[in-house]
Amino acid sequence: MESGVATHCPYCALQCGMVLSGSRVSERGGGLCQKGWTAGQLLEVPGRLTTPLVRRRGALRPAGWDEALALVADRIRELQVRHGKDAVAVFGGGGLTNEKAYQLGKFARVALGTAQIDYNGRFCMSSAAAAGTRAFGVDRGLPFPKSDLDSSDVVLLAGANPAETMPPFTAHLRRARLIVVDPRHTPTAERAALHLRPTPGTDLALALGILHAVVADGYLREDYVRARTTGFGEVWPIVAHWWPERTERVTGVPSADLRAAAAMLGEAGRAHVLTGRGSEQHADGTDTVSAWINLALALGLPGTRGSGFGCLTGQGNGQGGRELGQKCDQLPGYRAITDPAAREHVARVWGVPPDSLPGPGKSAYELLVSPETRALLVFGSNPLVSAPRAAHVAGRLAELDLLVVADFVLSETAAAADVVLPVTQWAEEDGTMTDLEGRVLARQRALAPPAGVRSDLEVLHGLAVHLGQPPGRFPCEPESVFSELRRATAGAPADYSGITYERLRGGEVLHWPVPDTAHPGTPRLFLDRFAHADGRARFVPVDHRGPAEPPDPAYPLVATTGRVLAHYQSGAQTRRVPELVATVPEAYVEVHPDTANRLGLGDGVLASVVSRRGRTRARVRHEPSLRGDTVFLPFHFPGDGRANLLTNPALDPVSRMPEFKVCAVRLEEEA
Ligand code: SF4
Repeated sequence: MESGVATHCPYCALQCGMVLSGSRVSERGGGLCQKGWTAGQLLEVPGRLTTPLVRRRGALRPAGWDEALALVADRIRELQVRHGKDAVAVFGGGGLTNEKAYQLGKFARVALGTAQIDYNGRFCMSSAAAAGTRAFGVDRGLPFPKSDLDSSDVVLLAGANPAETMPPFTAHLRRARLIVVDPRHTPTAERAALHLRPTPGTDLALALGILHAVVADGYLREDYVRARTTGFGEVWPIVAHWWPERTERVTGVPSADLRAAAAMLGEAGRAHVLTGRGSEQHADGTDTVSAWINLALALGLPGTRGSGFGCLTGQGNGQGGRELGQKCDQLPGYRAITDPAAREHVARVWGVPPDSLPGPGKSAYELLVSPETRALLVFGSNPLVSAPRAAHVAGRLAELDLLVVADFVLSETAAAADVVLPVTQWAEEDGTMTDLEGRVLARQRALAPPAGVRSDLEVLHGLAVHLGQPPGRFPCEPESVFSELRRATAGAPADYSGITYERLRGGEVLHWPVPDTAHPGTPRLFLDRFAHADGRARFVPVDHRGPAEPPDPAYPLVATTGRVLAHYQSGAQTRRVPELVATVPEAYVEVHPDTANRLGLGDGVLASVVSRRGRTRARVRHEPSLRGDTVFLPFHFPGDGRANLLTNPALDPVSRMPEFKVCAVRLEEEA
């Protein structure tokens, strides 16, 4: 066994550095949270898959690799002959390395010839990506190094809770006075100089109201707006109607607090506006982020040294995962799949005719529930827990002719599969990740995988060969894939062409774009110009719409979902780490004590949370800091404790993000 290998945490987009000695973790250059400290236990999880499984007579039974891959390839061929290429769909993940994300997109479009590929990042930060692209011309979570926040005077966090989701990040927020926008009194809100608690689903109106106060109280940066932006003239007529008192009526946030927020931001020498899932996971999530960007532009923050706008990407490779070709509408490097020049460039790298590449496909939720999907290949994701309207998704997956899941443990989705392919996990393979500030990091192999396990790249290679592809087209070596990825992204907005394994291993700090091997990288975007052809950022006119499903007499409460420190995403990994399970062992629902007592629900009893789509069983936690009209459920738990049994798949028209953050529910005592 190798020892003392410098690598990065397997979980969130902060990608904290760590040293692994066997399964023992020590920190490297900064802190780790509880998940990071216990990450070594993932390497010894009970139930680690080491052989392919094939469903026979109703049960998953061990099979050989050749047998399993041949079976999958044969079924794919058969279904595509019968139903067309798009009958086979691929579902990826924001935790996959850059190499895997890239190869998965190529595999779908070249080996399968299907347009139907999307990934779980659609459920994560797609609204921020869409809003960032339309405002700035390109989306990079933080277009500045996170260390810039160290000297910020005021940071507004809109729907972000880093004190709980990525605690070491808060080291960068020690100096700034914080304005926290969140209906919940989170650990981040605990540190706020000003906590704004809008009624769930009214964040967009709140951003409009603060922008109104910025303009009305004389904080508009007219010089910046004139020199660096377009579109303020279309935004102001809408914003003019959101005077603070009206905003207070809609959002519940006192008008004096709105004005205080405007003054704090307007009087700060250096300020930042950052969004998180709380603002983004709505049916109007893209417009909500646009409203926050409009505010930041009015204050002259984006592209100004020492200030800025950004989104706190969540998943480990949420940034690289969204820019390297596993989104249904993009080719590697953020190239639009509909752009003829982009298709030609990528097709040349892939060695196929441009017109053989499929066009755009369906977004994640639509792909999961479409009756046209007859086979689904899942890599690095657990949609039976993480997708909205989970019972409906489970029903659709059960009707598939073929469900294949590649994972290192038997996740809930793997347990429902026809074929399960056991793959390597984080510390058992080389690869690169792109963190929340667009910095590309080398994740190094620290120890050998168990016998019988293959990497996802080997799985894609094997399947591609069984499907008739030339063996050299889908290499297994991460560095070979990365060198092809560099050529595929050359000249694109997310240009990796100047990044090499050698530079990364040599300790160079490289933020994309890096257009050649002598280029030092681009830690700060937009200092001179934005990425639109005219170099200017766009104000986008947006207005409040409200949630898709407001509460009513039958479902009088608002349910909002989120994360807790001890768990990550669907919990497929963290629910197998004893220390994390001991911290938060089961599904729960936070309820204000007055609401709970009115319903006869004591602290600690089991209750049903019921929406129009399903019923979740959760333990009641009385939480005095919560709003009386709102309940909160973490979404990491399986079975009948899944918060996503409740959630509303109303999709944002631009990003196709489901409305995870608001749905109408009622509470019932468990019989
Ligand atoms: Fe890992 Fe994120 Fe925790 Fe850092 S903050 S240790 S990257 S989970």
